[in-house]
Amino acid sequence: MAYVVTDNCIQCKYTDCVEVCPVDCFHEGPNFLVISEDCVDCDMCVAECPANAIFYEDDVPEKQESFIALNLELSQEWPNITEMKKPLVYPNISIGVCLAVMNKILAGELYPWKKYTILCTLTHT
Ligand code: SF4
Ligand code: SF4
Repeated sequence: MAYVVTDNCIQCKYTDCVEVCPVDCFHEGPNFLVISEDCVDCDMCVAECPANAIFYEDDVPEKQESFIALNLELSQEWPNITEMKKPLVYPNISIGVCLAVMNKILAGELYPWKKYTILCTLTHT
């Protein structure tokens, strides 16, 4: 048995989970992570995942059961990841939110909107 990474991880990759794994059993693909059979079911990574993407194998939602086999298969192909990394893709900020932020900035209300400006730039450029 092992824990399984499911589709909420796709395009997220905050990799908080990797930092707590005592047996370094996460593997990194181009747009999500998977867990190998080396998982010792310690449960530590579940609370660290901001996307609620990690489930115990028996508890994987029905629609995502294909991820059980995917984790097994891809963890044998993808490289091991043992340290937290900068996220590859930032939270998706819609164009509408970006325009609203721009209006706030134009109105002279830069703070606390600065961080959203950065996210808008990263998402849409
Ligand atoms: S913290 Fe969750 S969403 Fe982020 S990389 Fe790990 S499993 Fe994927
Ligand atoms: S349950 Fe524990 S051993 Fe398994 S992947 Fe998560 S942190 Fe690693």
